[in-house]
Amino acid sequence: MIGDVRRLVAKIAEKFKRRFYGRTFHCPVCHVELAMVDADGNRLMVCPLCGVVLDVEEVYGHVVPVVLEVELYRPQPKMRIHPLVTHVPIGLFPFAVLGAGALILASVLGPWAPGLGPWLANAPLVADATLVLLALSVGLSVLTFASGLWDWRRRYRGRPYWQIRLKIVFSVLFLMLGGIAIALHASGAVFQASTGLVDVASPMAIGLAAVELGALLLGMVVIATLGHVGGTLVFGR
Ligand SMILES: [Zn+2]
Repeated sequence: MIGDVRRLVAKIAEKFKRRFYGRTFHCPVCHVELAMVDADGNRLMVCPLCGVVLDVEEVYGHVVPVVLEVELYRPQPKMRIHPLVTHVPIGLFPFAVLGAGALILASVLGPWAPGLGPWLANAPLVADATLVLLALSVGLSVLTFASGLWDWRRRYRGRPYWQIRLKIVFSVLFLMLGGIAIALHASGAVFQASTGLVDVASPMAIGLAAVELGALLLGMVVIATLGHVGGTLVFGR
């Protein structure tokens, strides 16, 4: 079952990849997937993972990457700040999503389940904790984003790579989605300050709660993709 889902997701991702990056091939040394469009005017490119200089030729419809050289003097920072701080948003954000999801569920179930009463008394605390987690994960992700850009400019010398382009776009998307969720949560329009719950009698509050939850869930997909693509630049796959 899980294998089927994974295959389906891989198939969809493959279609998107084709559309945005055209033909891809694997580095003959480290096997990381690279896009032909990232080769320069002379069909040359440097593998971001293993640092070989490739001449990417096309022979009778086949992509033939030929290893010419190795980039020996690549900056190797001792402090890997980006892989380190990347764990902050990835570690905290899911808990914020869980908090908001639990609050919305409690708001809907509250009137039907009187037994939830003692739990609901803690809702304002959960709402505040969720906001703190959200602000920390999105706020500190700016550090993750900045250190990633720094690494790209320094370690990869600002060369074009589809992985980096995707990561920049998705990082901006994550900041936007996170910003929307924080603004909605902090405004008190979704979760009332007094009860910590959604006012289910108000269509406006329900609509805004759906927007916040949507932004958070989309944020999860975005952050998972960012982590996955970042992982390919470290582990190859
Ligand atoms: Zn390589």
